[in-house]
Amino acid sequence: MTIYNFSAGPATMPQPVIQQIKDDLPSYKNSGMSVMEISHRSSLFDGIIADAEQDLRDLMNIPDNYKVLFFQGGGTLQFTAAPLNLATKYHRIGLLDSGHWADRAGDEASRVGVKVDVLDSTKDIKYTELPVLKDLKQDTYDYVHITTNNTIEGTAYSKIPDTGATELVGDQSSNFLAQQYKVEDFGAIMAGAQKNLGIAGLTIVIVRDDLIGKVKNLPSMVDYELFAKKNSMFNTPPVFAIYAAGLVLKWLKEQGGVPEMERRNLKKSGLLYDYLDNSKLFTAPVKKADRSLTNIPFITGDPDVDADLISKATAAGLLNIKGHRSVGGMRASLYNAMPYEGAQALVDFLEKYEADYWR
Ligand code: PLP
Repeated sequence: MTIYNFSAGPATMPQPVIQQIKDDLPSYKNSGMSVMEISHRSSLFDGIIADAEQDLRDLMNIPDNYKVLFFQGGGTLQFTAAPLNLATKYHRIGLLDSGHWADRAGDEASRVGVKVDVLDSTKDIKYTELPVLKDLKQDTYDYVHITTNNTIEGTAYSKIPDTGATELVGDQSSNFLAQQYKVEDFGAIMAGAQKNLGIAGLTIVIVRDDLIGKVKNLPSMVDYELFAKKNSMFNTPPVFAIYAAGLVLKWLKEQGGVPEMERRNLKKSGLLYDYLDNSKLFTAPVKKADRSLTNIPFITGDPDVDADLISKATAAGLLNIKGHRSVGGMRASLYNAMPYEGAQALVDFLEKYEADYWR
């Protein structure tokens, strides 16, 4: 039986990358040491991190005046780090409340004493649409925070809100390298690795260099300037996760880069949305224009049917389609590593389940 893993993260990885990891595991580049044993102060690791950075720069067309930083602590630590590093003039940020992760970002910013203004929220309609930025007052906010893709609610910005001269900070955790954005539209981008870049424990920050170094003596592990100076090796970095991310980046390049990923993700998600929109049993609740390419929630409206469906899907090798506990129903995550065949297998299964249901 072919297994497809629709988890929202940690998520499925490209099969060739897993094979490469297996091959490399006993002895990396004939060093006699496994990757997990090599020192971060070795030339072997220098090659790994330098290649990973360069490949990411190539894939995202990152301009030279942006730093690429490798952090630990997940997307969540960046909800603390971004305001500490970037909310230095007004100590106030704007937030587009598009769901759980936007709300978490706002909460963590408040905890470090930054004032958070919710500029728009779609909470009252259960986040089935994206909030919209209107009449942004300039010279008020250090930045506006958005979640480019809402992993739980299944919305995504295909067009980035225009914040004028106010900086934009984007949490791209769940559509990083899965959809095309211009780095220049953001002052900073953050993304946890465990969805589209490999292994949990690594978080990427891309930040314009004129925005950093404004505050002195930040806690070291969240200090963008310090990490930039130390080439992300202030302390022991997550060596294995950076190595795995490097392999994923090479795989992405071989596949044709982000434009090709976006094309594939449109095709995979289109297949599933088309089926759901024509189904009499299932509903995809998100407004069409705001739909995510990578996380697709759907419901029947009957929790018992949902539970039965999820258990039968699991038995058929279609894993982790249970919706997030805050939303219920089902959710299929179709990140870069999910092949078209996986989306097809899910649609085939849902079609058959629906036919049996109405029989
Ligand atoms: N931001 C988004 C959009 C996410 O989906 C997640 C986790 O799923 C996070 C932030 C938090 O990431 P982490 O668990 O790495 O802290």
